[in-house]
Amino acid sequence: MIQKIIPFAHQLIQQHIHKDDIVFDMTMGNGLDTLFLSILAKHVYAFDIQEKALKNTSSLLEKNGILNVTLIQDSHEFASKHYDGELGVIVFNLGYLPGGDKSISTNPEKTIKAIDTALPLLKVGGIMCITVYPGHKFGKIESELLLKYVTTLHSGQFNVLTYSFINKKNSPYNILIEKN
Ligand code: SAM
Repeated sequence: MIQKIIPFAHQLIQQHIHKDDIVFDMTMGNGLDTLFLSILAKHVYAFDIQEKALKNTSSLLEKNGILNVTLIQDSHEFASKHYDGELGVIVFNLGYLPGGDKSISTNPEKTIKAIDTALPLLKVGGIMCITVYPGHKFGKIESELLLKYVTTLHSGQFNVLTYSFINKKNSPYNILIEKN
């Protein structure tokens, strides 16, 4: 069976990640991606602007006995101020906090700035996975700007692809960027 969007991103991460990798979760939310990454990587830096996300993630990690994660309440375009070493994987799961305030969503300009500042940290063979939700107002603008931006990335430096159900209008999709 063809994989859904998040399982596909996770499978690709599993293929690229090494157990000694440092990784970024740029949109911590309720911590599901943070937990997934923490099991596979040496250390995870996870970012979110909402205190609720840090609380939810902290309790999920505690329940699972996870200790190799740093939770940071800051906007993701400032991620490299907190860690600027080499990264194996960078994950964005855009949009709003599930079960939270839908008006607090990722911001197209900040998302692109965050991608632009994090990409130089990605090691050769590393991967950035961005899950995009064009089904809501800001998501549509974000999706359009993102596609415009990622197509400008140098093809000698990066392999850029999308994974989407093209017969389902406005359904979530992945942008995947692998560093050569
Ligand atoms: N990966 C999460 C999970 O596994 O539960 C889901 C992420 S949720 C779809 C998107 C999150 O991005 C929200 O929690 C929201 O607060 C956060 N967010 C929005 N703008 C942000 C920003 N500028 N920097 C960091 N996080 C941001």
